[in-house]
Amino acid sequence: MIRNNLKNIEKNIIESSNKVNRNIDEITLIAVSKTKPIEMIKEVYNLGIRNFGENKVQELKEKYNQLPKDIRWHMIGHLQTNKVKDIIDKVYLIHSVDSIHLAEIIEKEASKKDVTINILLEINISGEESKYGINPNELINIVEEISKYPHIKIKGLMTVAPYTKNPEENRIIFSKLRELSLEIKNKNINNVDMDILSMGMTIDYMIAIEEGATMVRIGTGIFGERNYKNK
Ligand SMILES: *Cc1c(COP(=O)(O)O)cnc(C)c1O
Repeated sequence: MIRNNLKNIEKNIIESSNKVNRNIDEITLIAVSKTKPIEMIKEVYNLGIRNFGENKVQELKEKYNQLPKDIRWHMIGHLQTNKVKDIIDKVYLIHSVDSIHLAEIIEKEASKKDVTINILLEINISGEESKYGINPNELINIVEEISKYPHIKIKGLMTVAPYTKNPEENRIIFSKLRELSLEIKNKNINNVDMDILSMGMTIDYMIAIEEGATMVRIGTGIFGERNYKNK
């Protein structure tokens, strides 16, 4: 099942990139393995995938310890400040930085370990109350503040689009995230890159790629439905 799922997704990624004349090398597939067992992750690893996403610190830590060290772990879920120290030396990229306060703690822990941490800023484009993320109106100020931290590198933006059965509805969300990232890029702020746009999940990654995604985060489409009860 997993092999076919992955084949399909890779085919779709190529198709969407071709449609808008993008090079597929620009697009990184992140396999979102939350709630899924080690054995399944190994299967995906053996099919060549090296980028995995988790949304809980404890789970990421456990999986990090049990799986090959050439995996790039992406923290994609809400990150509590008191847990930053647990993953600071295990993550390749934190997608979900949504406040100056969180960045401050990341800076503190990163400086203790003498590492530089790559981050994305999570933006709440849709303005849904239930969602985490920075209000687009506050973004520039926040970027300017966080750019001053020597142990943090801002690499781009991330958003979680609303749940929908019709992915076309999220096109506007994705194009807004890209516009925001261009706006910031044009300001040429020191220590800030806008090379990464993390957007698109199982339901809407093809649309996200058409709108400029450089990282797509796909769980269900690779591993099948999540069953939180049997976790
Ligand atoms: C769970 C999750 C995904 C993957 O969702 P699917 O619909 O299973 O592809 C992507 N991004 C974030 C932030 C998630 O929490």
